[in-house]
Amino acid sequence: MWRTNSLRVAVVGAGIGGLAVASGLQRAGAEVIVLEQAARFLPRGSGLSLFANGFAALRSLGLEERVRAVVADGPPSVPYGTRRADGTRLSVFAASTLAELRVVDRTDLHRALLQDLAPDTVRPGIRVEGLSRGTLDLGPSGLLEDWHVLIGADGIRSRVRGSHAGDPGAAYCGYGAWRGITDGPVTLTDSGETFGRGERFGYVPLSDGRVYWFAVRPAADDDQPEPGELLERYREWHDPIPSLLAATAPERIGYQPIERLAHPLRTYSRGPAALVGDAAHAMPPTLGQGANLALEDAAVLVSLLRPIARDHDPRDIPTKLAAYDKARRPRTQSIARQAHLLGAALQWPTPLFARGRDLAMRAAPNAVMDRAFRSAQRWSPPD
Ligand SMILES: Cc1cc2nc3c(=O)[nH]c(=O)nc-3n(C[C@H](O)[C@H](O)[C@H](O)COP(=O)(O)OP(=O)(O)OC[C@H]3O[C@@H](n4cnc5c(N)ncnc54)[C@H](O)[C@@H]3O)c2cc1C
Repeated sequence: MWRTNSLRVAVVGAGIGGLAVASGLQRAGAEVIVLEQAARFLPRGSGLSLFANGFAALRSLGLEERVRAVVADGPPSVPYGTRRADGTRLSVFAASTLAELRVVDRTDLHRALLQDLAPDTVRPGIRVEGLSRGTLDLGPSGLLEDWHVLIGADGIRSRVRGSHAGDPGAAYCGYGAWRGITDGPVTLTDSGETFGRGERFGYVPLSDGRVYWFAVRPAADDDQPEPGELLERYREWHDPIPSLLAATAPERIGYQPIERLAHPLRTYSRGPAALVGDAAHAMPPTLGQGANLALEDAAVLVSLLRPIARDHDPRDIPTKLAAYDKARRPRTQSIARQAHLLGAALQWPTPLFARGRDLAMRAAPNAVMDRAFRSAQRWSPPD
């Protein structure tokens, strides 16, 4: 399978993290193979927030221009803030907090990252079953050996992570989310999040005027929503929430239980293997940072491996990956903790708590979420 004597990198998972690592290392001269279980890349039907730190990582990877081509020129042109279900305004974020926010259709982002790779880099329809003594078990597709570096970018249920002792596995957060993009443009006068009692609804425009929205509901982990539940739950919420739901074709709406890594990992690297993105630090999407942090992981990993991408000494690799772990674990685990705590707090269904939260948001509008959004964005790639 391998063709060159450059650094040979096997990446498991063609999500945002895996594709970003692959393109950075390929550009640096490494030979890269990406193994992806999905046979085809289907449209995702949802949006994604990219922030200043995500763009800094893309710049460091040489991918910024390609991604900027599929996102809006500027931040959402309408104010972003928080409201109550009846429409009462709780806060408006400072424009500077979101100056770098761009919302992208996930399918467009994925396509942009894929286009940067040499043909045949991604091998679709190959599921990695496990890793044993340096050999990747590819199920019916056979075995993969002789790689120098293995990157587990295979998401929250990572098989690469699971091949090592101490995998904490995934934990359900106690809520699930519907996501959708309206079929066509919708005129908005604001954007942001609306809080109910245990429910939340967020909406933000895409570059072409379509609107990406999400709706969160508390639920038991095995509780799938009934048909019609979404419309019924948000029927009496303020405008434009009911009309955004009406403007989205039901088949373009997806529902997903929200999960996180059950416990923080003790390390993101073991010998010649490292984890990136959700495989390393899956978190609830409260701060919209999961994919941004996967891009940061990729930028740090690529900057550490770049010097040995063409001429490598295998003895260098574990040291480089240990440096990656040291650089990434504190920041990503701190943001994951904040996202979990904030997510849990926003979901609390009791009226007393909801009133306290609303008062806090009103009294200090920029205090809670605004500060968290700002601090998560403060990051610079390594030189
Ligand atoms: C409701 C919701 C909203 C979100 N909103 C945002 C947001 O606005 N901004 C943001 O930054 N983040 C957001 N996130 C988080 C973001 O989606 C993730 O953090 C990000 O997608 C992680 O990327 P990844 O590449 O690490 O993993 P994934 O996107 O999970 O990709 C993993 C890939 O690996 C493949 N794979 C898995 N197992 C195997 C295997 N055994 N063999 C081969 N291939 C395998 C999968 O098919 C997949 O293609 C949101 C998440 C949710 C649930």
